[in-house]
Amino acid sequence: AFEGLTERLQKTFTNLRKKGKVTEADLRDTMREIRLALLEADVNFKVVKQFVKTVRDQAIGSDILEGLNPAQQIVKLVNDELVKMMGEEDAPLNKSPKIPTIIMMAGLQGAGKTTTTGKLALKLKNEQKARPLLIAADVYRPAAIDQLVQVGQQIDVPVYEEGTDVSPVDIVRHGLAQAAENKNDYVFIDTAGRLQIDEKLMQELADIKALAQPNEILLVVDAMTGQNAVNTAEGFNEKLDITGVVLTKLDGDTRGGAALSIRSVTGKPIKFVGQGEKMEDLDVFHPDRMASRILGMGDMLTLIEKTQKDFDEKQAAEMTQKIRENTFDFNDFVDQLTQVQNMGPLEDVMKMIPGMANNPMMKNMNVDPKDIEHTKAIVYSMTNAEREDPDILNPSRRRRIAAGSGRPVVEVNRMIKQFNQMKKMMNQMSKGNFAGMEGLMGN
Ligand code: GDP
Ligand code: MG
Repeated sequence: AFEGLTERLQKTFTNLRKKGKVTEADLRDTMREIRLALLEADVNFKVVKQFVKTVRDQAIGSDILEGLNPAQQIVKLVNDELVKMMGEEDAPLNKSPKIPTIIMMAGLQGAGKTTTTGKLALKLKNEQKARPLLIAADVYRPAAIDQLVQVGQQIDVPVYEEGTDVSPVDIVRHGLAQAAENKNDYVFIDTAGRLQIDEKLMQELADIKALAQPNEILLVVDAMTGQNAVNTAEGFNEKLDITGVVLTKLDGDTRGGAALSIRSVTGKPIKFVGQGEKMEDLDVFHPDRMASRILGMGDMLTLIEKTQKDFDEKQAAEMTQKIRENTFDFNDFVDQLTQVQNMGPLEDVMKMIPGMANNPMMKNMNVDPKDIEHTKAIVYSMTNAEREDPDILNPSRRRRIAAGSGRPVVEVNRMIKQFNQMKKMMNQMSKGNFAGMEGLMGN
């Protein structure tokens, strides 16, 4: 899911990063691109409208256009708004103060209720040594009961069933009595679905709810159904006042819009996502990680935050200016090194850049704090003219610097070479050319 959306957003942001200054017109273009990307991904149009307005207002209101790194700040705004849209905080499963916790599953036919019941029961079993009971309350298709029984066998969890001749409400009543007797700590009620919302089904579910008084009513929705998933969620929520949503089939070829709309439209949190057919393929839903995934950012946001926190803003702005004008010299280099030293291990910082964690260059990047000290010593042995104009560093000057700093000439040469590479790389990055950076660092 989300590949299309991620690709479009990344393209938009790459275009934005290429601009040194971001004008209001650039911002407008960017927001239009984001709006189209979200609509294309099947996000509900009302949600999109609100999203775009909020981000634009914030961008204009907080004068980030005049500030440091406006493109990055806008990416961060978009990320933060995406997180908010999906619920901000993780929403854990409700738990009853006394056993059993009763979880009622609801949703259209084929959404994944029976599968998710098994997945969730297995998760609780593995993580909390829970002893769940599954109740088969879908009496309309014999196959549905067989399916739940099979799921139960697969995960070694008991299933309560009475075939198809007893009413669902009675089955649930008997099942709960059985759970009380067996002291099961969780009870799952696997209910019937229909191809579409209909009154008779809704009444049946309302009756089951009234009897069982579930702690959790999880609506299972198929992410592949796009806008329909959102309408379904609205319909079920109106009638049943659900407590949470499980979004299934996020592993499939879905455009992902449902994940982004359901929370805003229903006000109910997504608690889990299904990402495969196997019993293990259920994950807790984390709004923040989902936003990063959508933006294709990896831990880039952590890096942005870290950089913002630890760098002196004014100094960083000056540095950015110098990089852009390509007047970055050895004096700046030493300042930069000092700041990097203050930020913590350079390897950690580098690894947060997408694609860097597994880059072979990470292995031979020596960032021993001692090396930084040596590098500084070399720079301190340069004359001012040399620091400001590295091009004049001929062999005899290099020999003098080596003697002055107590470092071997080869090290001085290597350091100057690295400086020149770094300067080139930073210049490329400031133009938004991240691809160029990888090529540079690979060799
Ligand atoms: P129910 O009618 O709501 O009980 O739906 P089922 O649990 O029977 O699931 C319908 C189909 O969707 C089955 O073939 C499941 O294997 C499949 N399914 C359920 N959840 C997922 C998921 O997260 N990913 C994928 N790929 N398939 C799923
Ligand atoms: Mg089923």
